[in-house]
Amino acid sequence: MRYSIFSILAQALPGQKGWKPVWREPTPKPSYDAIIVGGGGHGLASAYYLAKNHGLTNIAVVEKSYLGSGNVGRNTTIIRSNYLLPGNTPFYEHSLKLWEGLEQDINYNAMVSQRGCLNLYHSDSQRDAYARRGNAMRLLGIDAELLDREGVRKLYPTLDFDNARFPIHGGLLQPRGGSVRHDAVAWGYARAADSRGVDLIQNCEVTGIRVEGGRVLGVETQKGFIAAKKVGLACAGNSSRVAAMAGLKLPIESHVLQAFVSESIKPLVPGVVTFGAGHFYISQSNKGGLVFGGGLDGYNSYAQRGNLPIVEDVVEEAMAMMPMVGRLRVVRSWGGIMDMSMDGSPIIDKTPIEGLYLNAGWCYGGFKATPASGWCFAHTIARDEPHKLNSAFRLDRFRTGRLIDEKGAGAQPNLH
Ligand SMILES: Cc1cc2nc3c(=O)[nH]c(=O)nc-3n(C[C@H](O)[C@H](O)[C@H](O)COP(=O)(O)OP(=O)(O)OC[C@H]3O[C@@H](n4cnc5c(N)ncnc54)[C@H](O)[C@@H]3O)c2cc1C
Repeated sequence: MRYSIFSILAQALPGQKGWKPVWREPTPKPSYDAIIVGGGGHGLASAYYLAKNHGLTNIAVVEKSYLGSGNVGRNTTIIRSNYLLPGNTPFYEHSLKLWEGLEQDINYNAMVSQRGCLNLYHSDSQRDAYARRGNAMRLLGIDAELLDREGVRKLYPTLDFDNARFPIHGGLLQPRGGSVRHDAVAWGYARAADSRGVDLIQNCEVTGIRVEGGRVLGVETQKGFIAAKKVGLACAGNSSRVAAMAGLKLPIESHVLQAFVSESIKPLVPGVVTFGAGHFYISQSNKGGLVFGGGLDGYNSYAQRGNLPIVEDVVEEAMAMMPMVGRLRVVRSWGGIMDMSMDGSPIIDKTPIEGLYLNAGWCYGGFKATPASGWCFAHTIARDEPHKLNSAFRLDRFRTGRLIDEKGAGAQPNLH
């Protein structure tokens, strides 16, 4: 069923009783041309672009729980392309361009809202670094505006400009940045992939990867063995565990990241704001709740929940940036498992095993990458070579030293 104002009106007449499930619940076939492991944003987008861009339709996405149960449904929904380094910037800009046309492409309301993403700076040296990043973006035709203190005040009068420790000097604004309804992205890609014939197999954990003579043969699952000529791993926080099933050791650590939502209030935060004196970011959802988060919990874990010390830390940062939030109640918090790579940048590549491909290392910035990640991973799988946009995201860069260390933090996942 195509969604439109007419289909909504047509469904209203019989009392909304004619809506159909938006994807099938297929029984796995004995074999596929390609299997994607992981029904998160990246896995579903990859399956969709494999079908749409490369004409592969005998494919399946195998998900251990329900579609969207991982980070795609747990993130703080921020999208942007304000990167500095050459390996990153064109990739994330391609993603932003895909977001801009996504809803028409997949015929699904993903609530893409380009209300601006503002990075605050609090010192002269930080301003210089942001000016450099903004200039690098503008040279590539990407929107960036360096605002002074009064420019920021016009947009966000409720920030604490005179904070004794962290006075706000200005900010780098990307007007095309913003947010997207995260779970709608999972459902939208799932529906679009299903409508092109992709089998979406839920509640089916991959428990092994069968490899013989250096070639992948398929995956062992809770529903039995499924053969495949090609297998793509898009398991985010579980990447190391799943890759280990094929004997691969990844340069990735898994860490918990938490997010928080406050009670609903009238419009207060028009766009996305990030604090420059710590790790804190905030926006306001369409329902009115403030959505915010900070840094990692700081210990390795595969649990989708966090601990109290980071709650205190995040709330302290919120208070330092916008003291008025201290009057609000937090209504929900949750955690997701981050696949932290050793330079803070992702991996989209072939692996040393023929027919096995890897999409991982998204740290806490992979939501914004979803469309481009799927686009490039599909290309890499279908053509057996990287797309030029993911040519820097190589698995062997940690051996060759061609790192993409956007933050200049070195191999310290806690700092990325
Ligand atoms: C609190 C939080 C805030 C964040 N905020 C942002 C943000 O504002 N902007 C941004 O760009 N990014 C953000 N991120 C990061 C972003 O959500 C992730 O990088 C991205 O979603 C990861 O890709 P994915 O959607 O494919 O992952 P997931 O949705 O986690 O998908 C991976 C899937 O693999 C499945 N899987 C794992 N093991 C197996 C197995 N053995 N068999 C079958 N299936 C398996 C999992 O169940 C899961 O569904 C945030 C993350 C969190 C947790």
